[in-house]
Amino acid sequence: MATVTRTLSDLEQTTDFTRRHIGPDAEQTQAMLSDLGVNSIEELITQTVPDSIRLDDALAMDDSLTEADALVYLRSLADQNKVNKTYIGMGYSNTLVPNVILRNVMENPAWYTAYTPYQPEIAQGRLEALLNYQQVVMDLTGMDLANASMLDEATAAAEAMTLCKRSNRKKSDIFFVADDVHPQTIDVIKTRAEYFGFEVVVGNPLTDLDNCDAFGVQLQYPGTYGDISDIKSLIEKAKDQKAMVAVAADPLALVLLKSPGELGADVVLGSSQRFGVPMGFGGPHAAFFAASEKLKRSVPGRIIGVSIDTNGKPALRMAMQTREQHIRREKATSNICTSQALLANMASFYCVYHGPQGLKTIAERVHRLTAILANGLKAKGIAVNDTYFDTLTLTLPETAADVYQRALDAGCNLRQTAANKLGITLDETTRPADIAQLLDVVLGEDHGLSVADLDAEIVAGADTGIAAEMRREDAILTHATFNSYHSETDMLRYMKKLENKDYSLVHGMIPLGSCTMKLNATAEMIPVTWPEFSSIHPFAPADQVQGYHKMLSLLEEQLVEITGYDKVSLQPNSGASGEYAGLLAIRKYQESIGEGHRNVCLIPSSAHGTNPASAAMMDMKIIVTACDDKGNVDVADLRAKAEQHKDDLSCLMITYPSTHGVYEEDIVEICDLIHKNGGQVYMDGANMNAQVGISKPGVIGSDVSHLNLHKTFAIPHGGGGPGMGPIGVKSHLAPFLASHKVSPVEGLNPDNGAVAATPYGSASILPITWMYNLMLGKSGLKKSTQMAILNANYMTEKLAEHYPVLYRGRNNKVAHECIVDIRPLKEASGVTEEDIAKRLMDYGFHAPTMSFPVAGTLMIEPTESESKAEIDRFVEAMAQIRQEVEKVQSGQWPADNNPLCRAPHTQADIMSANWDRPYSREEAVFPNTATRENKFWPTSNRIDNVYGDRNFICSCPAIETYMDN
Ligand SMILES: *Cc1c(COP(=O)(O)O)cnc(C)c1O
Repeated sequence: MATVTRTLSDLEQTTDFTRRHIGPDAEQTQAMLSDLGVNSIEELITQTVPDSIRLDDALAMDDSLTEADALVYLRSLADQNKVNKTYIGMGYSNTLVPNVILRNVMENPAWYTAYTPYQPEIAQGRLEALLNYQQVVMDLTGMDLANASMLDEATAAAEAMTLCKRSNRKKSDIFFVADDVHPQTIDVIKTRAEYFGFEVVVGNPLTDLDNCDAFGVQLQYPGTYGDISDIKSLIEKAKDQKAMVAVAADPLALVLLKSPGELGADVVLGSSQRFGVPMGFGGPHAAFFAASEKLKRSVPGRIIGVSIDTNGKPALRMAMQTREQHIRREKATSNICTSQALLANMASFYCVYHGPQGLKTIAERVHRLTAILANGLKAKGIAVNDTYFDTLTLTLPETAADVYQRALDAGCNLRQTAANKLGITLDETTRPADIAQLLDVVLGEDHGLSVADLDAEIVAGADTGIAAEMRREDAILTHATFNSYHSETDMLRYMKKLENKDYSLVHGMIPLGSCTMKLNATAEMIPVTWPEFSSIHPFAPADQVQGYHKMLSLLEEQLVEITGYDKVSLQPNSGASGEYAGLLAIRKYQESIGEGHRNVCLIPSSAHGTNPASAAMMDMKIIVTACDDKGNVDVADLRAKAEQHKDDLSCLMITYPSTHGVYEEDIVEICDLIHKNGGQVYMDGANMNAQVGISKPGVIGSDVSHLNLHKTFAIPHGGGGPGMGPIGVKSHLAPFLASHKVSPVEGLNPDNGAVAATPYGSASILPITWMYNLMLGKSGLKKSTQMAILNANYMTEKLAEHYPVLYRGRNNKVAHECIVDIRPLKEASGVTEEDIAKRLMDYGFHAPTMSFPVAGTLMIEPTESESKAEIDRFVEAMAQIRQEVEKVQSGQWPADNNPLCRAPHTQADIMSANWDRPYSREEAVFPNTATRENKFWPTSNRIDNVYGDRNFICSCPAIETYMDN
């Protein structure tokens, strides 16, 4: 008999997810440890992480599950959700995600693993899709410009309110909200208004608008109960009082209705969810935001704009970036950073695929079915609204409870809006048979009506709920892009054409410091599109979402254990939104103990721009504290400022490990110092990848943190969103977490204002983090952190042979990222950090984070998922680029004609007949063997930002612009 050497557990190794998640294998790990001169990973961690914050105990979590077992487990929870037919409405509709988009965009890592398009030369694909999105929004809303998505409709409305205040000189603090705005939107508006000191007046615009004296007005079109009010006269009334008007609108209704722009609105916003994005129990979906030309410098969020590259060829990039928090900080128009790019892309592809005719047919069909239902009900004496697009509010002779229950028994969710009123909202998925079923449910079975007869009456001229003067007359989506790709073959190729222009994790490392671009494992992504998670309305009855609640509470438990906090809120749907929610909890808590006057927020100068932007939204007084020359918070300065403001100190916002990528030794003392001066500690948890399993913010001494699940916890970046930014808090802050008026969060006062449109934010991407935590388990989570630190330190040592490393912590170690300083090189050679970033594209890499948190530097984060081989490939590219800089410095290449300042290079460059450069074509595009074997081609030359801002265009350019080139 043959000798057996391996045990069963050895043989089971292949099922272990941790070794798939982590890039380096045992051999590579050993090689890196030896290089660093340490014997074990534990030794490296002891050298790197301060004793005062290092955990002794393992996480109290289960061991890892295999991919297969974790999926079976999650399946068992998904099966406890019930997918009913949804007629609830309120801004969420069922939709048919075109399968070609589902598989090739939503489920495609080339789309979902890309980063925000800060490097536009390798992002022209998603920039085009986002520009299409803006065009759709501009056409439907009738406005001059649109941004490329907001987090959700409710927060978009809150942003519209602050935009109105900023842009309106009128002396008023009143914001008027129509009482037929969706209730969750009113909830979020009220939360946001409180600290700006605005008074929110909710009323009937027909009667209460007259002398409301508001600076701004929010309307809904059609209203939450279905009516299409005459917003033209309402807008005129508001304008007579010098109030600005924001209109929340339904994009499918806008296909048939006159645009709010034509009717005089200043801002139009809404959700593009029903354009082919699943409801997902609340998200993620893209909200839209459109405004008139005069407001262009004040619009929140990111706008994609048209510019040109160095060859004069049209090229896209994010416009007017100086408005962003990174630069404007507390003066930024909003704190929104991560938004909903992937979902905006899906919605825009939905419009490209259907085209204007297709959209019109969908809208007409939904409306026809609504009219059939309305006329049938009216014929039987049930009152419904006179005007409608897709939503009816039924007034029943007696209680609505029976009908509501009959509907449930038939597998249908209706909306009960009053004791005798029911709402029914139809959508793209509604079939004629569903109308027959609804008539049965409401009228009982022998009503004698037929859908065909009712339809015939409409064709013969019966009433249909949209007044002739409210019908749209202008054309939409006339651009060629929306009239070219209506077969699946054409659509598939169009999307592939765009995909091919974009660099994502499927191509190579995206070493963006502070952004943690790690593996987004397929097993983590699979559950997102299970119908039991994706086809659920956010306000579905509780007994239909038991599986969701079990998944969410297990996730909360995991995050409580990982962070060392007492309670977690899953509502905020971005990191910045988490910051806002955390500061809100702090201020509410301070009010509850009679210290509501505390409004000073200390923020170290190294902080991410969202920190001051969020504090500004809470009307806090921001005091910036200094950093020392090692990149640490200057404790003496912090102490002085904390003491100086001790009577008004609300909190400190501090990132840990610091945005400089080091573990500050003094963090425990810093937390103490703030508490002693009456303040709370907000720890920005975006860098949790350097803490999970080896330290905990709650144990270090902070009171609240947000976690960027789209960084540390494996939710993909989506090319600029979605994300999730849940917050963890200590018990004293727990009673002040965000709840929700429509669907209160268990254990919280429903009057705690909401910070997002739905109670669990973008709930349908939470299974990603759930899977991540379960498949890694306590040891895999810890090992991931250890390996992130090992990779970063190995990379730092290798890079240090070629570039100065700006900051290091104890024992010369860094945390999970490092900053290389390009300033000395720039001084000596004229080569800039941007030249290096663009040259990296020629080498097949996405650039690191540029000039944050220190101008003139590159911040590089490899994460645990990159192998030693990939890190080596990156280091070699950086080393070779250093050699190229040398040639510029020595004068071998002129300062204005070298592969660095002319990077990136395109195929057109090297095919051009006149090659006027002192370096070869080969040096330009195949600088090393790796690129010869596997080349990623940038599709644009360097893009001119200034030109684009001076000639601001955010709509699809006319087709001739492309033909000229
Ligand atoms: C990414 C990041 C944020 C903001 O997160 P978003 O999800 O983009 O809003 C805040 N702070 C730090 C340090 C970050 O890296």
